[in-house]
Amino acid sequence: MTRNIALANAYRSDIDLVELRVDLLSVPEQQRLCGDARNVVEALSGLETILTVRRTRDGGAWDRSESERYELLRTLLAAGFAWIDIEADDDGLPERLELASQARTLGTRVIASRHFMDRVPGEIEHELARLSEIGDCAKIAATPLGVEDLRNMFSAARSHHAPHVILGMGSYGFPSRVMSHALGNLFTFTSAADTRQAASGHTTPDLLRNLYGHAACSDKTRYFAVIGNPVAHSKSPEYHNTRFRADGVDAVYVPVQVDDFASFLSFARELPLHGVSVTVPHKQAAAQSAAVVDEGVTATGACNTLIRLENGEYRGVNTDIEGFLRPIRDLLPTVSGATVVGAGGAARAAAYALMREGIPVLVCNRTLKRADALAAELNALFGQRESLIRAEAGPLPAEESDLGAYAGLIVQTTSVGMHPDTEGDPIPDYRFRGTEIVYDIIYTPPVTAVLRRAGAAGCRTVNGSGMFTAQAAAQYRLFTSTPARTRGDHGT
Ligand code: NAP
Repeated sequence: MTRNIALANAYRSDIDLVELRVDLLSVPEQQRLCGDARNVVEALSGLETILTVRRTRDGGAWDRSESERYELLRTLLAAGFAWIDIEADDDGLPERLELASQARTLGTRVIASRHFMDRVPGEIEHELARLSEIGDCAKIAATPLGVEDLRNMFSAARSHHAPHVILGMGSYGFPSRVMSHALGNLFTFTSAADTRQAASGHTTPDLLRNLYGHAACSDKTRYFAVIGNPVAHSKSPEYHNTRFRADGVDAVYVPVQVDDFASFLSFARELPLHGVSVTVPHKQAAAQSAAVVDEGVTATGACNTLIRLENGEYRGVNTDIEGFLRPIRDLLPTVSGATVVGAGGAARAAAYALMREGIPVLVCNRTLKRADALAAELNALFGQRESLIRAEAGPLPAEESDLGAYAGLIVQTTSVGMHPDTEGDPIPDYRFRGTEIVYDIIYTPPVTAVLRRAGAAGCRTVNGSGMFTAQAAAQYRLFTSTPARTRGDHGT
Protein backbone atom coordinates (compact mmCIF):
# COMPACT_ATOMS: atom_id res chain seq x y z
CA MET A 1 0.00 0.00 0.00
CA THR A 2 2.87 2.37 0.80
CA ARG A 3 4.02 2.14 -2.83
CA ASN A 4 0.47 2.81 -4.09
CA ILE A 5 0.10 5.87 -1.85
CA ALA A 6 3.47 7.17 -3.04
CA LEU A 7 2.34 6.68 -6.65
CA ALA A 8 -0.92 8.58 -6.07
CA ASN A 9 0.98 11.38 -4.33
CA ALA A 10 3.43 11.60 -7.21
CA TYR A 11 0.51 12.30 -9.56
CA ARG A 12 -1.30 14.77 -7.25
CA SER A 13 -0.99 17.65 -9.70
CA ASP A 14 -2.60 15.56 -12.50
CA ILE A 15 -5.47 13.83 -10.68
CA ASP A 16 -8.53 14.62 -8.53
CA LEU A 17 -9.52 11.12 -7.45
CA VAL A 18 -7.88 7.81 -6.61
CA GLU A 19 -9.67 4.51 -7.10
CA LEU A 20 -8.53 1.84 -4.66
CA ARG A 21 -8.88 -1.34 -6.69
CA VAL A 22 -8.74 -3.64 -3.71
CA ASP A 23 -9.34 -6.69 -5.92
CA LEU A 24 -5.85 -6.16 -7.40
CA LEU A 25 -4.16 -6.47 -4.00
CA SER A 26 -2.96 -9.85 -2.72
CA VAL A 27 -4.99 -11.48 0.07
CA PRO A 28 -2.42 -10.54 2.79
CA GLU A 29 -2.42 -6.95 1.45
CA GLN A 30 -6.23 -6.89 1.60
CA GLN A 31 -6.09 -8.11 5.20
CA ARG A 32 -3.53 -5.47 6.15
CA LEU A 33 -5.65 -2.78 4.46
CA CYS A 34 -8.64 -3.73 6.66
CA GLY A 35 -6.65 -2.65 9.72
CA ASP A 36 -5.13 0.40 8.09
CA ALA A 37 -7.80 1.80 5.72
CA ARG A 38 -8.41 4.99 7.70
CA ASN A 39 -4.70 5.89 7.56
CA VAL A 40 -4.68 5.21 3.82
CA VAL A 41 -7.64 7.54 3.22
CA GLU A 42 -5.97 10.16 5.40
CA ALA A 43 -2.68 9.82 3.54
CA LEU A 44 -4.63 10.60 0.37
CA SER A 45 -6.50 13.58 1.82
CA GLY A 46 -7.22 16.24 -0.77
CA LEU A 47 -7.93 13.51 -3.29
CA GLU A 48 -11.35 11.87 -3.44
CA THR A 49 -11.11 8.12 -2.90
CA ILE A 50 -13.21 5.45 -4.64
CA LEU A 51 -13.53 2.05 -2.97
CA THR A 52 -13.83 -0.76 -5.53
CA VAL A 53 -13.58 -4.53 -5.31
CA ARG A 54 -14.16 -5.56 -8.93
CA ARG A 55 -15.35 -9.09 -9.82
CA THR A 56 -13.62 -11.09 -12.58
CA ARG A 57 -16.84 -11.10 -14.65
CA ASP A 58 -16.62 -7.28 -14.71
CA GLY A 59 -12.95 -7.24 -15.71
CA GLY A 60 -11.53 -7.25 -12.16
CA ALA A 61 -9.54 -9.81 -10.21
CA TRP A 62 -11.97 -10.76 -7.38
CA ASP A 63 -12.70 -14.47 -7.79
CA ARG A 64 -13.76 -15.31 -4.23
CA SER A 65 -17.32 -15.48 -2.90
CA GLU A 66 -19.76 -12.59 -2.89
CA SER A 67 -20.30 -12.89 0.87
CA GLU A 68 -16.53 -12.42 1.44
CA ARG A 69 -16.55 -9.44 -0.91
CA TYR A 70 -19.41 -7.73 0.94
CA GLU A 71 -17.70 -8.36 4.27
CA LEU A 72 -14.51 -6.77 2.95
CA LEU A 73 -16.41 -3.79 1.54
CA ARG A 74 -18.35 -3.27 4.79
CA THR A 75 -15.13 -3.32 6.83
CA LEU A 76 -13.36 -0.87 4.53
CA LEU A 77 -16.32 1.52 4.26
CA ALA A 78 -15.78 2.66 7.84
CA ALA A 79 -12.56 4.39 6.74
CA GLY A 80 -14.53 7.25 5.14
CA PHE A 81 -14.15 6.83 1.38
CA ALA A 82 -15.69 9.55 -0.83
CA TRP A 83 -17.22 6.96 -3.17
CA ILE A 84 -18.01 3.26 -3.31
CA ASP A 85 -18.50 1.47 -6.62
CA ILE A 86 -21.42 -0.94 -6.50
CA GLU A 87 -22.35 -3.16 -9.44
CA ALA A 88 -26.00 -2.73 -10.32
CA ASP A 89 -26.77 -5.86 -12.32
CA ASP A 90 -29.83 -7.81 -11.11
CA ASP A 91 -27.87 -10.80 -9.81
CA GLY A 92 -27.70 -10.37 -6.01
CA LEU A 93 -28.71 -6.71 -6.23
CA PRO A 94 -30.69 -6.50 -2.93
CA GLU A 95 -27.52 -7.14 -0.83
CA ARG A 96 -25.61 -4.52 -2.76
CA LEU A 97 -28.45 -2.01 -2.34
CA GLU A 98 -28.17 -2.60 1.38
CA LEU A 99 -24.44 -1.90 1.14
CA ALA A 100 -25.24 1.29 -0.79
CA SER A 101 -27.58 2.53 1.91
CA GLN A 102 -25.01 1.70 4.60
CA ALA A 103 -22.43 3.69 2.60
CA ARG A 104 -24.73 6.71 2.39
CA THR A 105 -25.25 6.77 6.13
CA LEU A 106 -21.44 7.06 6.44
CA GLY A 107 -21.35 9.97 3.96
CA THR A 108 -19.96 7.85 1.11
CA ARG A 109 -21.53 8.46 -2.32
CA VAL A 110 -22.49 5.54 -4.54
CA ILE A 111 -21.34 4.84 -8.09
CA ALA A 112 -23.87 2.40 -9.57
CA SER A 113 -21.95 0.59 -12.28
CA ARG A 114 -22.48 -1.89 -15.11
CA HIS A 115 -19.73 -3.57 -17.11
CA PHE A 116 -20.25 -4.98 -20.57
CA MET A 117 -17.01 -6.73 -21.41
CA ASP A 118 -17.87 -7.78 -24.97
CA ARG A 119 -20.51 -5.38 -26.24
CA VAL A 120 -22.41 -2.12 -25.86
CA PRO A 121 -25.95 -2.77 -24.59
CA GLY A 122 -28.80 -1.95 -26.98
CA GLU A 123 -30.86 0.17 -24.58
CA ILE A 124 -28.03 2.18 -23.14
CA GLU A 125 -30.17 5.25 -22.29
CA HIS A 126 -32.57 3.04 -20.36
CA GLU A 127 -29.65 1.41 -18.50
CA LEU A 128 -28.21 4.82 -17.58
CA ALA A 129 -31.60 5.95 -16.25
CA ARG A 130 -31.85 2.79 -14.13
CA LEU A 131 -28.34 3.31 -12.72
CA SER A 132 -29.12 6.92 -11.83
CA GLU A 133 -32.05 5.71 -9.72
CA ILE A 134 -29.68 3.50 -7.73
CA GLY A 135 -26.53 5.60 -7.39
CA ASP A 136 -25.29 9.18 -7.08
CA CYS A 137 -23.32 8.56 -10.25
CA ALA A 138 -24.29 6.15 -13.06
CA LYS A 139 -21.33 4.38 -14.58
CA ILE A 140 -21.26 2.20 -17.69
CA ALA A 141 -18.07 0.63 -18.99
CA ALA A 142 -18.79 -1.17 -22.27
CA THR A 143 -16.79 -2.51 -25.18
CA PRO A 144 -17.66 -0.94 -28.54
CA LEU A 145 -17.11 -3.34 -31.42
CA GLY A 146 -17.06 -0.58 -34.01
CA VAL A 147 -17.45 3.17 -34.40
CA GLU A 148 -21.28 2.87 -34.53
CA ASP A 149 -21.22 1.50 -30.95
CA LEU A 150 -18.98 4.39 -29.91
CA ARG A 151 -21.38 6.85 -31.50
CA ASN A 152 -24.29 5.30 -29.54
CA MET A 153 -22.33 5.63 -26.30
CA PHE A 154 -21.62 9.31 -26.96
CA SER A 155 -25.20 10.09 -27.85
CA ALA A 156 -26.57 8.27 -24.75
CA ALA A 157 -24.07 10.06 -22.50
CA ARG A 158 -24.85 13.47 -23.97
CA SER A 159 -28.59 13.06 -23.50
CA HIS A 160 -28.29 11.83 -19.89
CA HIS A 161 -28.37 14.80 -17.56
CA ALA A 162 -27.80 13.12 -14.18
CA PRO A 163 -24.16 12.62 -13.02
CA HIS A 164 -22.56 9.85 -15.05
CA VAL A 165 -19.39 8.26 -16.35
CA ILE A 166 -19.64 6.33 -19.60
CA LEU A 167 -16.49 4.72 -20.92
CA GLY A 168 -15.60 2.56 -23.89
CA MET A 169 -13.08 -0.21 -23.33
CA GLY A 170 -10.70 -1.54 -25.98
CA SER A 171 -9.37 0.11 -29.13
CA TYR A 172 -12.70 1.50 -30.39
CA GLY A 173 -13.43 3.02 -26.97
CA PHE A 174 -10.31 5.16 -26.59
CA PRO A 175 -11.94 8.53 -27.49
CA SER A 176 -14.32 8.16 -24.53
CA ARG A 177 -11.32 7.95 -22.17
CA VAL A 178 -9.96 11.36 -23.18
CA MET A 179 -13.15 13.28 -24.11
CA SER A 180 -14.86 13.45 -20.72
CA HIS A 181 -16.22 16.94 -21.30
CA ALA A 182 -17.84 16.00 -24.61
CA LEU A 183 -19.53 13.03 -22.91
CA GLY A 184 -20.56 15.03 -19.84
CA ASN A 185 -18.60 12.51 -17.73
CA LEU A 186 -17.97 13.33 -14.08
CA PHE A 187 -14.47 11.87 -14.29
CA THR A 188 -12.33 9.44 -16.26
CA PHE A 189 -9.84 6.77 -15.27
CA THR A 190 -6.14 6.50 -16.00
CA SER A 191 -3.34 4.13 -14.98
CA ALA A 192 0.06 5.28 -13.74
CA ALA A 193 2.89 4.88 -16.25
CA ASP A 194 4.88 1.65 -15.95
CA THR A 195 2.18 -0.10 -13.94
CA ARG A 196 -0.37 -2.71 -14.95
CA GLN A 197 -3.31 -0.98 -16.70
CA ALA A 198 -6.35 -1.29 -14.42
CA ALA A 199 -8.54 -1.52 -17.56
CA SER A 200 -7.86 -1.81 -21.28
CA GLY A 201 -7.50 1.54 -23.02
CA HIS A 202 -6.29 3.54 -20.01
CA THR A 203 -3.88 6.34 -20.80
CA THR A 204 -1.52 7.86 -18.21
CA PRO A 205 -2.40 10.90 -16.03
CA ASP A 206 0.44 12.80 -17.61
CA LEU A 207 -0.71 12.20 -21.21
CA LEU A 208 -4.31 12.91 -20.29
CA ARG A 209 -3.49 16.29 -18.80
CA ASN A 210 -0.55 17.46 -20.86
CA LEU A 211 -1.20 15.94 -24.29
CA TYR A 212 -5.00 15.73 -24.35
CA GLY A 213 -5.54 18.88 -22.23
CA HIS A 214 -8.23 16.98 -20.30
CA ALA A 215 -8.60 19.30 -17.31
CA ALA A 216 -8.90 22.44 -19.44
CA CYS A 217 -11.74 21.25 -21.73
CA SER A 218 -14.97 23.25 -21.75
CA ASP A 219 -18.03 23.73 -23.95
CA LYS A 220 -15.83 25.90 -26.17
CA THR A 221 -13.21 23.22 -26.83
CA ARG A 222 -13.04 22.14 -30.49
CA TYR A 223 -12.36 18.48 -31.27
CA PHE A 224 -10.25 17.06 -34.08
CA ALA A 225 -9.40 13.45 -34.90
CA VAL A 226 -7.24 11.08 -36.87
CA ILE A 227 -9.11 8.08 -38.25
CA GLY A 228 -7.74 4.78 -39.53
CA ASN A 229 -7.93 1.07 -38.93
CA PRO A 230 -5.72 0.50 -37.01
CA VAL A 231 -4.92 3.97 -35.68
CA ALA A 232 -3.24 3.47 -32.29
CA HIS A 233 0.27 3.69 -33.85
CA SER A 234 -0.42 7.13 -35.40
CA LYS A 235 1.96 9.92 -34.46
CA SER A 236 -0.63 12.54 -35.42
CA PRO A 237 -2.19 12.97 -31.92
CA GLU A 238 1.23 13.78 -30.50
CA TYR A 239 1.99 16.22 -33.33
CA HIS A 240 -1.31 18.15 -33.32
CA ASN A 241 -1.96 18.17 -29.55
CA THR A 242 1.58 19.35 -28.86
CA ARG A 243 1.09 22.23 -31.29
CA PHE A 244 -2.39 23.07 -29.93
CA ARG A 245 -0.97 23.20 -26.39
CA ALA A 246 2.11 25.23 -27.44
CA ASP A 247 -0.03 27.75 -29.34
CA GLY A 248 -2.68 27.97 -26.59
CA VAL A 249 -5.41 26.73 -28.98
CA ASP A 250 -8.46 25.39 -27.14
CA ALA A 251 -8.66 22.14 -29.10
CA VAL A 252 -8.10 18.42 -28.60
CA TYR A 253 -7.04 15.90 -31.24
CA VAL A 254 -8.07 12.28 -30.67
CA PRO A 255 -7.29 8.96 -32.42
CA VAL A 256 -10.52 7.24 -33.52
CA GLN A 257 -10.42 3.69 -34.82
CA VAL A 258 -12.93 3.48 -37.67
CA ASP A 259 -14.28 0.31 -39.25
CA ASP A 260 -17.15 1.90 -41.15
CA PHE A 261 -16.70 5.35 -42.71
CA ALA A 262 -20.43 6.18 -43.02
CA SER A 263 -20.97 5.58 -39.26
CA PHE A 264 -17.91 7.69 -38.52
CA LEU A 265 -19.26 10.55 -40.60
CA SER A 266 -22.50 10.62 -38.58
CA PHE A 267 -20.41 10.59 -35.39
CA ALA A 268 -18.22 13.43 -36.71
CA ARG A 269 -21.25 15.55 -37.63
CA GLU A 270 -22.93 14.99 -34.26
CA LEU A 271 -19.97 15.83 -32.02
CA PRO A 272 -18.98 17.82 -34.12
CA LEU A 273 -15.40 17.18 -35.20
CA HIS A 274 -13.92 20.34 -36.71
CA GLY A 275 -11.18 18.61 -38.66
CA VAL A 276 -10.11 15.06 -39.42
CA SER A 277 -6.85 13.50 -40.57
CA VAL A 278 -7.68 10.44 -42.67
CA THR A 279 -5.38 7.43 -42.99
CA VAL A 280 -5.55 3.90 -44.44
CA PRO A 281 -8.11 2.58 -45.42
CA HIS A 282 -10.50 5.55 -45.51
CA LYS A 283 -8.91 8.07 -47.89
CA GLN A 284 -11.09 7.16 -50.85
CA ALA A 285 -14.32 7.09 -48.82
CA ALA A 286 -13.37 10.50 -47.41
CA ALA A 287 -12.84 11.84 -50.94
CA GLN A 288 -16.27 10.60 -51.98
CA SER A 289 -18.07 11.94 -48.91
CA ALA A 290 -16.68 15.49 -48.88
CA ALA A 291 -19.12 18.16 -50.04
CA VAL A 292 -16.32 20.24 -51.59
CA VAL A 293 -12.85 19.01 -52.59
CA ASP A 294 -9.58 20.58 -53.71
CA GLU A 295 -7.83 19.80 -56.98
CA GLY A 296 -5.50 17.29 -55.32
CA VAL A 297 -8.44 15.20 -54.06
CA THR A 298 -10.10 15.25 -57.49
CA ALA A 299 -6.87 14.24 -59.18
CA THR A 300 -5.91 11.45 -56.79
CA GLY A 301 -9.34 10.28 -55.60
CA ALA A 302 -7.81 10.32 -52.11
CA CYS A 303 -8.47 12.74 -49.25
CA ASN A 304 -6.33 12.81 -46.11
CA THR A 305 -7.90 15.91 -44.51
CA LEU A 306 -11.50 16.89 -43.79
CA ILE A 307 -12.33 20.40 -42.62
CA ARG A 308 -15.74 21.21 -41.21
CA LEU A 309 -17.67 23.90 -43.08
CA GLU A 310 -20.15 26.29 -41.48
CA ASN A 311 -23.09 24.24 -42.84
CA GLY A 312 -21.81 21.12 -41.02
CA GLU A 313 -20.52 19.42 -44.18
CA TYR A 314 -16.83 18.73 -44.81
CA ARG A 315 -14.29 20.09 -47.28
CA GLY A 316 -11.79 17.52 -48.51
CA VAL A 317 -8.13 18.43 -48.99
CA ASN A 318 -5.09 16.32 -49.88
CA THR A 319 -2.05 17.53 -47.93
CA ASP A 320 -0.08 14.35 -48.79
CA ILE A 321 0.77 15.96 -52.16
CA GLU A 322 2.40 19.02 -50.62
CA GLY A 323 3.89 16.85 -47.84
CA PHE A 324 5.40 14.41 -50.31
CA LEU A 325 7.20 17.10 -52.31
CA ARG A 326 8.60 19.09 -49.39
CA PRO A 327 11.57 16.80 -48.46
CA ILE A 328 12.71 16.38 -52.09
CA ARG A 329 11.91 19.79 -53.51
CA ASP A 330 15.57 20.85 -53.63
CA LEU A 331 16.52 17.61 -55.39
CA LEU A 332 13.88 17.79 -58.13
CA PRO A 333 15.88 19.93 -60.61
CA THR A 334 18.27 16.96 -60.98
CA VAL A 335 15.46 14.46 -61.66
CA SER A 336 14.23 13.86 -65.21
CA GLY A 337 12.12 10.77 -64.51
CA ALA A 338 10.86 8.83 -61.48
CA THR A 339 9.72 5.31 -60.60
CA VAL A 340 6.87 5.05 -58.13
CA VAL A 341 6.69 1.64 -56.42
CA GLY A 342 3.05 0.93 -55.46
CA ALA A 343 -0.30 2.04 -56.81
CA GLY A 344 -2.33 2.73 -53.64
CA GLY A 345 -3.45 6.03 -52.15
CA ALA A 346 0.05 7.29 -51.32
CA ALA A 347 1.35 6.30 -54.76
CA ARG A 348 -1.43 8.34 -56.38
CA ALA A 349 -0.42 11.41 -54.37
CA ALA A 350 3.29 10.88 -55.16
CA ALA A 351 2.83 10.25 -58.89
CA TYR A 352 0.43 13.18 -59.25
CA ALA A 353 2.79 15.49 -57.34
CA LEU A 354 5.77 14.50 -59.50
CA MET A 355 3.87 14.90 -62.77
CA ARG A 356 2.57 18.27 -61.64
CA GLU A 357 6.25 19.22 -61.24
CA GLY A 358 6.81 18.14 -64.86
CA ILE A 359 8.48 14.80 -64.09
CA PRO A 360 7.41 11.70 -66.09
CA VAL A 361 6.58 8.68 -63.94
CA LEU A 362 6.79 4.89 -64.20
CA VAL A 363 4.27 3.24 -61.83
CA CYS A 364 5.37 -0.26 -60.74
CA ASN A 365 3.04 -2.38 -58.70
CA ARG A 366 2.60 -5.95 -57.51
CA THR A 367 -0.88 -5.95 -59.07
CA LEU A 368 -0.07 -4.76 -62.57
CA LYS A 369 -3.60 -3.79 -63.50
CA ARG A 370 -3.71 -1.25 -60.65
CA ALA A 371 -0.49 0.30 -62.00
CA ASP A 372 -2.03 0.35 -65.49
CA ALA A 373 -5.18 2.01 -64.19
CA LEU A 374 -3.22 4.67 -62.29
CA ALA A 375 -0.98 5.46 -65.28
CA ALA A 376 -4.04 5.73 -67.55
CA GLU A 377 -5.78 8.09 -65.12
CA LEU A 378 -2.69 10.28 -64.84
CA ASN A 379 -2.30 10.40 -68.63
CA ALA A 380 -5.94 11.39 -69.01
CA LEU A 381 -5.44 14.15 -66.46
CA PHE A 382 -2.11 15.51 -67.70
CA GLY A 383 -2.83 14.85 -71.39
CA GLN A 384 -5.09 17.88 -71.35
CA ARG A 385 -2.30 20.13 -70.15
CA GLU A 386 0.03 22.15 -72.33
CA SER A 387 3.24 20.22 -71.59
CA LEU A 388 2.50 16.57 -72.22
CA ILE A 389 3.98 14.62 -69.28
CA ARG A 390 3.44 10.86 -69.57
CA ALA A 391 3.03 8.05 -67.05
CA GLU A 392 3.86 4.42 -67.81
CA ALA A 393 3.08 1.23 -65.90
CA GLY A 394 5.10 -1.87 -65.13
CA PRO A 395 5.63 -4.78 -62.73
CA LEU A 396 7.79 -4.39 -59.61
CA PRO A 397 11.48 -4.00 -60.66
CA ALA A 398 13.31 -7.35 -60.60
CA GLU A 399 17.02 -8.31 -60.57
CA GLU A 400 18.04 -7.17 -64.03
CA SER A 401 15.44 -4.40 -64.39
CA ASP A 402 16.74 -1.27 -66.03
CA LEU A 403 14.54 1.64 -65.08
CA GLY A 404 16.16 3.71 -67.82
CA ALA A 405 14.84 7.27 -67.93
CA TYR A 406 12.88 6.64 -64.73
CA ALA A 407 15.90 5.67 -62.59
CA GLY A 408 16.75 9.15 -61.26
CA LEU A 409 14.30 8.94 -58.34
CA ILE A 410 12.74 5.77 -56.92
CA VAL A 411 9.81 6.38 -54.59
CA GLN A 412 8.71 3.51 -52.35
CA THR A 413 5.03 3.95 -51.41
CA THR A 414 3.90 0.44 -50.44
CA SER A 415 3.37 -0.53 -46.81
CA VAL A 416 6.12 -3.19 -47.09
CA GLY A 417 8.90 -2.57 -44.55
CA MET A 418 6.70 -0.64 -42.15
CA HIS A 419 6.73 -1.58 -38.45
CA PRO A 420 6.33 -4.38 -37.38
CA ASP A 421 7.43 -6.06 -40.66
CA THR A 422 10.71 -4.13 -40.63
CA GLU A 423 12.64 -6.63 -42.77
CA GLY A 424 10.10 -6.37 -45.62
CA ASP A 425 11.46 -5.11 -48.95
CA PRO A 426 9.00 -4.68 -51.86
CA ILE A 427 11.78 -4.89 -54.50
CA PRO A 428 14.23 -7.36 -52.88
CA ASP A 429 15.89 -8.43 -56.15
CA TYR A 430 16.35 -4.98 -57.68
CA ARG A 431 20.03 -3.97 -57.71
CA PHE A 432 20.64 -0.30 -57.00
CA ARG A 433 23.31 1.34 -59.20
CA GLY A 434 24.17 3.93 -56.55
CA THR A 435 23.08 6.83 -58.74
CA GLU A 436 19.40 6.77 -57.79
CA ILE A 437 17.76 8.99 -55.17
CA VAL A 438 15.66 6.55 -53.12
CA TYR A 439 12.72 8.00 -51.19
CA ASP A 440 10.76 5.65 -48.91
CA ILE A 441 7.65 7.39 -47.55
CA ILE A 442 7.50 5.04 -44.53
CA TYR A 443 8.71 6.72 -41.31
CA THR A 444 8.59 3.82 -38.83
CA PRO A 445 11.29 2.57 -38.85
CA PRO A 446 13.33 5.59 -39.96
CA VAL A 447 15.56 3.33 -42.07
CA THR A 448 13.61 0.60 -43.86
CA ALA A 449 15.20 -2.51 -45.35
CA VAL A 450 15.04 -1.02 -48.86
CA LEU A 451 16.60 2.28 -47.72
CA ARG A 452 19.37 0.34 -45.97
CA ARG A 453 20.16 -1.54 -49.20
CA ALA A 454 20.01 1.64 -51.26
CA GLY A 455 22.30 3.47 -48.83
CA ALA A 456 24.80 0.60 -48.90
CA ALA A 457 24.86 0.83 -52.70
CA GLY A 458 25.76 4.51 -52.48
CA CYS A 459 22.33 6.00 -53.24
CA ARG A 460 21.12 9.21 -51.69
CA THR A 461 18.20 8.25 -49.39
CA VAL A 462 15.22 10.10 -47.96
CA ASN A 463 12.74 8.65 -45.43
CA GLY A 464 9.09 9.46 -44.75
CA SER A 465 9.45 11.56 -41.60
CA GLY A 466 9.81 14.83 -43.54
CA MET A 467 6.66 13.99 -45.50
CA PHE A 468 4.78 13.17 -42.30
CA THR A 469 5.74 16.47 -40.70
CA ALA A 470 5.01 18.51 -43.82
CA GLN A 471 1.57 16.98 -44.45
CA ALA A 472 0.72 17.33 -40.74
CA ALA A 473 1.91 20.96 -40.71
CA ALA A 474 -0.33 21.68 -43.72
CA GLN A 475 -3.25 20.06 -41.88
CA TYR A 476 -2.50 22.10 -38.76
CA ARG A 477 -2.65 25.32 -40.80
CA LEU A 478 -6.04 24.24 -42.17
CA PHE A 479 -7.30 23.24 -38.71
CA THR A 480 -6.30 26.55 -37.17
CA SER A 481 -7.21 28.83 -40.05
CA THR A 482 -10.91 28.05 -39.52
CA PRO A 483 -12.28 30.24 -36.72
CA ALA A 484 -10.12 28.79 -33.94
CA ARG A 485 -10.15 30.19 -30.46
CA THR A 486 -7.22 30.47 -28.15
CA ARG A 487 -7.63 29.84 -24.46
CA GLY A 488 -8.81 32.95 -22.64
CA ASP A 489 -10.37 34.24 -25.87
CA HIS A 490 -13.77 32.62 -25.63
CA GLY A 491 -15.91 35.67 -26.26
CA THR A 492 -19.61 35.26 -25.60
P1 NAP B 1 -2.72 1.44 -49.83
O1 NAP B 1 -3.62 2.35 -50.57
O2 NAP B 1 -3.31 0.31 -49.06
O3 NAP B 1 -1.66 0.84 -50.89
C1 NAP B 1 -0.77 -0.17 -50.54
C2 NAP B 1 0.19 -0.46 -51.72
O4 NAP B 1 1.17 -1.37 -51.21
C3 NAP B 1 -0.46 -1.11 -52.93
O5 NAP B 1 0.17 -0.66 -54.09
C4 NAP B 1 -0.14 -2.60 -52.69
O6 NAP B 1 -0.04 -3.37 -53.87
C5 NAP B 1 1.22 -2.50 -52.08
N1 NAP B 1 1.56 -3.68 -51.32
C6 NAP B 1 1.00 -4.08 -50.16
N2 NAP B 1 1.58 -5.23 -49.74
C7 NAP B 1 2.54 -5.54 -50.67
C8 NAP B 1 3.49 -6.60 -50.79
N3 NAP B 1 3.57 -7.55 -49.86
N4 NAP B 1 4.34 -6.58 -51.84
C9 NAP B 1 4.27 -5.59 -52.75
N5 NAP B 1 3.39 -4.57 -52.72
C10 NAP B 1 2.53 -4.55 -51.67
O7 NAP B 1 -1.83 2.23 -48.77
P2 NAP B 1 -1.32 3.77 -48.88
O8 NAP B 1 -2.34 4.71 -48.33
O9 NAP B 1 -0.86 4.01 -50.26
O10 NAP B 1 -0.11 3.79 -47.83
C11 NAP B 1 1.08 3.06 -48.13
C12 NAP B 1 2.19 3.42 -47.15
O11 NAP B 1 2.51 4.79 -47.20
C13 NAP B 1 1.85 3.12 -45.69
O12 NAP B 1 2.95 2.48 -45.12
C14 NAP B 1 1.67 4.49 -45.08
O13 NAP B 1 2.01 4.53 -43.70
C15 NAP B 1 2.65 5.31 -45.89
N6 NAP B 1 2.29 6.75 -45.89
C16 NAP B 1 3.18 7.61 -45.34
C17 NAP B 1 2.87 8.95 -45.29
C18 NAP B 1 3.82 9.93 -44.65
O14 NAP B 1 3.39 11.00 -44.23
N7 NAP B 1 5.10 9.63 -44.59
C19 NAP B 1 1.65 9.43 -45.82
C20 NAP B 1 0.78 8.52 -46.42
C21 NAP B 1 1.11 7.16 -46.44
P3 NAP B 1 -1.33 -4.12 -54.54
O15 NAP B 1 -2.01 -3.08 -55.36
O16 NAP B 1 -0.74 -5.23 -55.30
O17 NAP B 1 -2.18 -4.61 -53.38
